[in-house]
Amino acid sequence: MLIDTNVKAFKNFINNEWQESDSEKVIPSINPANKEEIVGFVQNSTVEDLEKAVLAAHQAKKNWRKLGQAARGQLLFKAANILEENLDEIAETLTREMGKTLPEAKGETARGVAILRYYAGEGMRKEGDVIPSSDSEALMFTKRVPLGVVGVITPWNFPVAIPIWKIAPALVYGNTVVFKPATEAAVTAAKVVECFAKAGFPAGVLNFITGSGAIIGQSLIDHPLLNAITFTGSETVGAGVAKSAAARGIKFQLEMGGKNPVIVTKDADLDAAVEAVISGGFRSTGQKCTASSRVIVETAVYEDFKEKLIEATKKITVGNGLQEGIWMGPCASESQFNTVRSYIEKGKAEGASLIYGGETLTGGEYSQGFYVTPAIFEHVKPKMAIAQEEIFGPVAALIKAADLQEAIEFANDTKYGLSASIFTTNIATLLEFIDEIEAGLVRINAESAGVELQAPFGGMKASSTGSREQGEAAKEFFTAIKTVFIKG
Ligand code: NAD
Repeated sequence: MLIDTNVKAFKNFINNEWQESDSEKVIPSINPANKEEIVGFVQNSTVEDLEKAVLAAHQAKKNWRKLGQAARGQLLFKAANILEENLDEIAETLTREMGKTLPEAKGETARGVAILRYYAGEGMRKEGDVIPSSDSEALMFTKRVPLGVVGVITPWNFPVAIPIWKIAPALVYGNTVVFKPATEAAVTAAKVVECFAKAGFPAGVLNFITGSGAIIGQSLIDHPLLNAITFTGSETVGAGVAKSAAARGIKFQLEMGGKNPVIVTKDADLDAAVEAVISGGFRSTGQKCTASSRVIVETAVYEDFKEKLIEATKKITVGNGLQEGIWMGPCASESQFNTVRSYIEKGKAEGASLIYGGETLTGGEYSQGFYVTPAIFEHVKPKMAIAQEEIFGPVAALIKAADLQEAIEFANDTKYGLSASIFTTNIATLLEFIDEIEAGLVRINAESAGVELQAPFGGMKASSTGSREQGEAAKEFFTAIKTVFIKG
């Protein structure tokens, strides 16, 4: 690997100071489109660095709470404006660091701006309700109060939007934050934190620390001064987070994996369904928790749908996401690349037929990147690993269903329940789907991926634990309720 000494080493942000780790060690962040390129270095932090970050957040929490919701909201407005001014640069870093195409990276950063403005507006909204007391001389009301120090642990696939949809509500409702991003996308995260830093939040309100999940992430959750943890990532790590947080009795919120189905019924608009499967399954190289990975098609339209899907998939251009005309970038890291390729082999070994793509691209412009072509399997049985386990890559499994009942049965037959979509023109069918599907996000004639920041986000079963994220729902997690009774 070519080590360019001009590449910047990003520091931790603790108590409003950019600090190097006590370890004096840094971790490189690699461009998955060109593994020769280091996008930046981040600190390989120690438990002592974390101690400083948590202490800073702890010491800042009283004054931050007392500042009031409206003033906190004003600071979020400033951070939104600064992020917007730096949108192009941050989006380019995002593409170079995790591979999604530049238009997608710009879209994600713009969403970050919108989320900040949404929660900035919360600064002017109500903090509680007045409730009639049975005592006519009393005043009874609720008041929402912050939890204290909140830990924010995030994955690499949305390194701008996910941190912001956790940090913004945490801050506006009066909590202080210690933020640990995924190392694979920590340079982008550092640039987002720079926007908060420039907005002028008081010292200790937002602290940023990078390093190993097993060491820094785990020590954060186990820290006695931490009051709550919000986590997005894999189910395996999430299970450990839940255990540690429950053992300490702190509030926790987990957003984890998905194995999201799309049902295509015999009365569906097949062209619209194909477009949604392509976008939901392969955009961002299939690395969305809401990505469509199982496509359950009624037998009556199966062959037609399959042909249309293959024809549309052939048009997908794969390459470096910074280049114009590229629709799908590389896998975000070598380990993700290896996981995707191992599932493609597993699918074949299980007896499914790879009917399109799934090739590793090598040579020329692809020689230094982690590129695979979008893969379509058929003859997939609902119990196969490629139909049960989250691959987090551009792999679509086609499953035939005799009728709607069987399609819903297959759709529900996984441990996950994040998002689910159906394509139908029949009202009775869509009503049954809404009733029967086990998913937190239910999408009719729309792709499984796609969330709106003002609506609750989260799943059922192994996909999520705790209250929903985003929109008004975020308030449930980031505040506690005091019920106040005043007798004159
Ligand atoms: P991951 O679980 O490997 O890592 C997530 C975060 O946890 C990282 O910051 C990591 O450093 C940290 N971590 C690792 N070990 C830890 C430990 N022992 N204690 C505390 N923290 C630890 O996940 P990933 O590979 O970064 O992201 C991909 C996963 O995220 C997929 O499963 C995907 O479905 C999920 N995801 C879910 C949603 C959602 O909202 N449901 C959104 C995006 C991604």
